[in-house]
Amino acid sequence: MTNEKILVIEDEEKISGIVKSYLEREGFTVTVANTGQKALQLIKGGHDLIILDLMLPDMEGETLCSRVREFSDVPIIMLTAKSSEDERVRGLGLGADDYVVKPFSTRELVARVKAHLRRAQKKESGVLSFNNGLLKIDPQAMEVRKGDSPIPFTTTEFKILLYLAQKAQVVINRFQIVNKVLGYEFDGYDRVIDAHIKNIRHKIEENPQNPLFIKTVYGAGYKFVGQPDDKRF
Ligand code: CA
Repeated sequence: MTNEKILVIEDEEKISGIVKSYLEREGFTVTVANTGQKALQLIKGGHDLIILDLMLPDMEGETLCSRVREFSDVPIIMLTAKSSEDERVRGLGLGADDYVVKPFSTRELVARVKAHLRRAQKKESGVLSFNNGLLKIDPQAMEVRKGDSPIPFTTTEFKILLYLAQKAQVVINRFQIVNKVLGYEFDGYDRVIDAHIKNIRHKIEENPQNPLFIKTVYGAGYKFVGQPDDKRF
């Protein structure tokens, strides 16, 4: 059994009903939203994957997809009746991970759901190593090592560092960090994130004033700039 949570955003009850029952049979926990607004309320509940219909009564699926991408990198599979190559490319350009054209086989959809979840898990489970082993992040043991010495990290600090390292070379804003790591936003979250980053730098950087790993991008956020080592441990 799995306890992975899937959000199905689809206004056609017949389709959402079938998809829900197939996924539940596979052990997934499934929530259905039949409008874009409802989806936006539910999305921050930490789903492992989203199935998104392009044609919703109150919002374009494309719009919803870009809104989700502002704060989350959860795998998104789009459902659509549109099948032209252009639409496909547009959907993927907006940050969807995959595309299923209606009418689709539910078994095929379930297979793709599993493939994307496996891929997401794999991406998150291998040990990340940077700058010739100077910094290692082990997602399964939730351990950070500088050289070979483990460094004590709080859970929140660990999640922030892992998230930034998984998005190496990409500028991540404070809003994305708070949503990804804490799953909710609150007043003054940007200062809280800055305080965590400061603590993380003191733990991993030789010189926190001139960081090797986490750079500040003024007016935008933070960027992890460690050089990944080829070998994954
Ligand atoms: Ca629809």
